[in-house]
Amino acid sequence: MDGERLEARHAIVGDGFEIRRALPNRHHRTIGAWCFLDHAGPADYAAGRGLTIGPHPHIGLQTFTWVIEGRILHTDSLGYRQWIEPGQVNLMTAGRGISHAEESPGDAAGRFQLAQLWIALPRHESSREPSFHHYPELPILEQGGFRTTVLAGTFAGERAPVEVFTPLVGLDLAARGPARAALPLAPEFEHGVLVLEGTGRFDGQTLAPGALFYFPAGRRELAVECPAPARILVIGGVPFGEEILIWWNFVARSVGEMETALADWLEGDRFGRVEGARGAPLVAPDLGELRGRRGAA
Ligand code: MN
Repeated sequence: MDGERLEARHAIVGDGFEIRRALPNRHHRTIGAWCFLDHAGPADYAAGRGLTIGPHPHIGLQTFTWVIEGRILHTDSLGYRQWIEPGQVNLMTAGRGISHAEESPGDAAGRFQLAQLWIALPRHESSREPSFHHYPELPILEQGGFRTTVLAGTFAGERAPVEVFTPLVGLDLAARGPARAALPLAPEFEHGVLVLEGTGRFDGQTLAPGALFYFPAGRRELAVECPAPARILVIGGVPFGEEILIWWNFVARSVGEMETALADWLEGDRFGRVEGARGAPLVAPDLGELRGRRGAA
């Protein structure tokens, strides 16, 4: 059973940083409940010119931030102000509504590389109260030359503390040299594999940054081989059985929910205020594009 190769799209975030957007993909909008996956950087920046993503709202999802290089400051409308560094996860559960901002340190030149993911909340959790958690330490396993960090869910008996609401898994595989391992997979999960740095071979196919391999449910194992130092992200989960709309920074079930959320962002106090962020609040795209695909999954 071969993986299906999906090309990431290129997009621009912040002040002109190019990112590779692997999800949503037109062939697979979600992998388990993972519904968004950006790989940003590595990018070098001058003092004061780092990543600056101004305040913006979210509903219906969890934002999951995994930093590979550099450090990023998260600030949100609940009053959290949290630096995140490599090896740590920031998890923000938007639920009914929250706003946040993210930025690189502003005082010096630097470099960043990170994976930003969203996890769709199932319908019965989609309007829960917003929350934020910083996880400074995650389980780490050594296998076949890979240093594997369990980012979410359970892998090889190790459980990540990250609070999620559907069965899913997230893994970071770091090869410091040639590495080879057979990853045990949950057969009820579909999986996606993204190479962040270097190259990886999966069942004989070679993957480099910029593409995602998709593996449907039913696999019990995935053979991974890296000829040289590499960094690989693996995500998976039980196929998300609900129809969802993804528009701007929102996950919802109807256009009406989106319209209400947008109106509440433009005026009202549903999303609170983010204090002390460097960037200006983000401007939503036109809702007309979403109305045009009413009923789309
Ligand atoms: Mn965000």
